[in-house]
Amino acid sequence: MSTAKLTFWGAAGHVTGSMHLLEAAGARVLLDAGLFQGRRTEAAALNANLPFDPRRIDAIVVSHAHIDHIGRLPLLVRHGYHGPIYATPATRDLCAVMLPDAAHVQESDAAFLSRRGKRSPVSEPLYSLADAVAVQDLIIGLPYHRIHYIRKNLAFEYTEAGHILGSASVDLRLSEGGNHRIVFSGDVGRSGLPIIRDPEPPAGPIDTLIVESTYGDRDHESTASSADRLTEIVRRVAGKGGKILIPAFALGRVQELVYALHQLARAGRIPSLRIYVDSPLAVDATTVFRMHPEVFDRREQLLMHSDQVFDFPQLQYVKSVEDSKRLNTLTGPAIIIAASGMAESGRILHHLANHIGDSRNCVLFVGYQAEHTLGRRIQDGAREIKIFGELRDAHAEVETISGYSAHADRTELRAWVRALGGPVKRAFVVHGEAAPAAAMAEILKEEGVRQTVIPELGESFDL
Ligand SMILES: [Zn+2]
Repeated sequence: MSTAKLTFWGAAGHVTGSMHLLEAAGARVLLDAGLFQGRRTEAAALNANLPFDPRRIDAIVVSHAHIDHIGRLPLLVRHGYHGPIYATPATRDLCAVMLPDAAHVQESDAAFLSRRGKRSPVSEPLYSLADAVAVQDLIIGLPYHRIHYIRKNLAFEYTEAGHILGSASVDLRLSEGGNHRIVFSGDVGRSGLPIIRDPEPPAGPIDTLIVESTYGDRDHESTASSADRLTEIVRRVAGKGGKILIPAFALGRVQELVYALHQLARAGRIPSLRIYVDSPLAVDATTVFRMHPEVFDRREQLLMHSDQVFDFPQLQYVKSVEDSKRLNTLTGPAIIIAASGMAESGRILHHLANHIGDSRNCVLFVGYQAEHTLGRRIQDGAREIKIFGELRDAHAEVETISGYSAHADRTELRAWVRALGGPVKRAFVVHGEAAPAAAMAEILKEEGVRQTVIPELGESFDL
């Protein structure tokens, strides 16, 4: 028997903060090191208190470059972690733009909280730009399907998760006192997403599965009906001279949306209105996309040669603050895509403050809105919202299109589990609020998984 142990230090009862500690084959390995997001003070406290000494961690394996999966890497390095951090090459390059940005957000969040008089430890930034840069020196790019030995008896390989550029599931093999296979799903994506390849679930018998459950209890709209709805919304709002504000994650959603709008414009389905991607981070992330066509879907690989994926005449990328401010005086219909995806920070706040009071405008959500975020409050139909400490009436239309999600929905999660093929002895359901996690546990039971557990934060299990 092996003496392996698994402890859940994030995304357990939460969607954010993904971090799981595997102790096996004489090594202490972290799967992801993500940041908690959501209620600011609560998240800050969770993030600030590391539950272990980072100097005693031997290796970190990250699944993909969303901040709720990598955002605590600089914190670990700040507190003495100096081992290898494994990532796919695209994830490595995305970390180089995501983490410095996260450091910046840390600094402005801390400034915000200390202005409010809320005292330490949360009024100190979690980490600095220097910590974020130091992470980069430790990252080792590991392509999909290359088996890497962390210890003589502990190896892993990445398979395509189909979620965002470079996203991976982690397939670990422990061969100490018998064989034990552990699969960590990472965030499961969807078949047929533009640009991103389809998920490739690690097939065969699995002893321990750690699986996400973000949308375990609901289905998305299809890509085709999403395109129809996007077309309808753009036409309607443009027809009354309004603006469409789209809060979107700089990484993944922005690129998918740009591609979708490009296709609609080319097909003549939407009027020729101006489209702005107002986010320096999104611009930088798009640059990393351009660097990694080797992990694109074949169709976009072909398009990429004519450089048509992320550029078209109506589209403008906005990087400088001055250019961003200039958008405030913009007249006539336009689409503004800006971060953050849950409207918690970033330039989308200025645009919301400017435009949410005008009934001609529309706030369009295309991604998951976590509990206790401004995005969720607007999405839930709040008629009065607070931005920059000031209450504002919300008169703009609010729309949600779920079909641009990069997360597998209920049906797709089931298909992913089914495609694993072999029997799964025990599954741990993570990365979901209570209802979707429970629904995912049900799906796993129906698919023949022998034992299903929804772990709590800090809970440990012998494997
Ligand atoms: Zn993700």
